[in-house]
Amino acid sequence: MAMMTREEYVASLDDGRRTFAEGEEIKDLASHPQFATAISLVGEGYEQNYIPGDDASGPYFRIPHSPGELKEILELLADWDMVTVTTSQGLLALITAATRMRADYPELADRIEKYFDYCKQNDLRCVQAITDAKGDRKLAPGQQADPDVYTRIVERRPDGIVIRGAKLHISSASVSHELVVMPTKNMKPGDEDYAVACAVPVNAPGVRIVNTSYAPRERVEDFPVSGKFNMPEGFIIFDDVFVPNERVFLDGQTEYSAAFAHALGLWERLGGTAHMAEFADQLVGLAQLIAEANGTERIPHIKEKINEMVIYATMTRAGLEAAIANAELSEEGWCFPSELYTNAAKHYAAADYSLMVRHLHDIGGGSILTAPSIQDLQSEEVGPFIEKYMATKEGISGEYRLRLFHAIRDFTADAYGGWQLVTMLQSGGGLYAQRMVARKHYDMDHAKKLALRLAGL
Ligand SMILES: Cc1cc2nc3c(=O)[nH]c(=O)nc-3n(C[C@H](O)[C@H](O)[C@H](O)COP(=O)(O)OP(=O)(O)OC[C@H]3O[C@@H](n4cnc5c(N)ncnc54)[C@H](O)[C@@H]3O)c2cc1C
Repeated sequence: MAMMTREEYVASLDDGRRTFAEGEEIKDLASHPQFATAISLVGEGYEQNYIPGDDASGPYFRIPHSPGELKEILELLADWDMVTVTTSQGLLALITAATRMRADYPELADRIEKYFDYCKQNDLRCVQAITDAKGDRKLAPGQQADPDVYTRIVERRPDGIVIRGAKLHISSASVSHELVVMPTKNMKPGDEDYAVACAVPVNAPGVRIVNTSYAPRERVEDFPVSGKFNMPEGFIIFDDVFVPNERVFLDGQTEYSAAFAHALGLWERLGGTAHMAEFADQLVGLAQLIAEANGTERIPHIKEKINEMVIYATMTRAGLEAAIANAELSEEGWCFPSELYTNAAKHYAAADYSLMVRHLHDIGGGSILTAPSIQDLQSEEVGPFIEKYMATKEGISGEYRLRLFHAIRDFTADAYGGWQLVTMLQSGGGLYAQRMVARKHYDMDHAKKLALRLAGL
């Protein structure tokens, strides 16, 4: 019942969890090259936030009660590792779902609140396991050839349920403690077994996680971004996993299945927009620095592209600010960001992210891909030539320009850059999902009234 230290966190991962990568089961996660950086990052987060004492808890377990508090949490989020971010987002999504279902199912709402307190008191890290395998996208869960492609309840016992299925693309699952399972979409009557939300410890019997990663294994110096910041993605298999009643938050109540998906969508998209606002400024910074290093910063078409990137970065941040400024209070006094502005801002930022990357690549030039490695720069024989030919003018050394190119490649054009391009579009659901929610919350009557007045009708 206290906060964990870095050492306690690392030790807590040695709990019998079954995690796999590249065809093998990984027994010592903390020393494996695919996980070591991620565990060290999360460990640093534990260290930074640690407060001694039995009643202490991390700021990531805070529920906002005003737009000001919401903003404070978002500002902290920018400094947290991915697992701490998903802990905050996942638990706030559960709390949001609890608010929405409390009138009809007070017992389920109470279980969510108790679970929130359990995670807070034990300083656990959670991930959001929502995206199912989904099989044929045209078909409902109950119509699929394989009934397990959407996670489902296969047995109901007096003391709990047994679930079977898989959740895909679950960020950081192997380095966290808790899997917060939610239905991936609205379930209709007839699909009661698929309307399931619950919390499963990562080491529960029957759970296996298969990992993928963009973490560089060698020449880490050439990967200044992904060498320092990387997290595994988890393909989670639930092979008949028992979940006790106190950890079950939805069990067949199809009318509330969408409440979970929408709640998580809201918090993930808000976090995603905050993330993209930061990324947008970083893209602008890289574009301006490389233009200055190349001597092109005054050329009109280069300036125009950077101007467009400045507008993109500013509008993304404006959308984020509007989502906070228009936040709403629940009956419990909890503060939730505006659905309309959150979804519109996330859509805007995600849709044009690849265009901003294109501008950066257009401005930077081919050395984004072909700049020699830092090791070659350090070679006694070829290093001086690399320094000589990569330098452009007084104040811009070959090494400085080389390192800028490596940062741009790593950030936008290599394994991590490709990962980001897809992540921007798909995390929190594809663009279509944000368009649907934005349209639902948009004041169409007001727009129609204005149009009628304009037409004199
Ligand atoms: C790096 C990364 C990290 C992620 N992290 C997490 C995580 O931590 N937790 C988590 O739960 N999920 C996570 N996701 C999953 C993400 O939310 C999904 O990738 C996204 O919702 C799309 O689902 P999908 O990948 O199954 O693609 P699909 O469902 O196949 O979607 C592909 C396209 O088809 C469209 N489409 C599919 N079905 C329909 C339909 N019936 N009607 C209309 N259009 C349809 C979609 O809109 C989309 O444009 C992550 C994804 C990525 C890439």
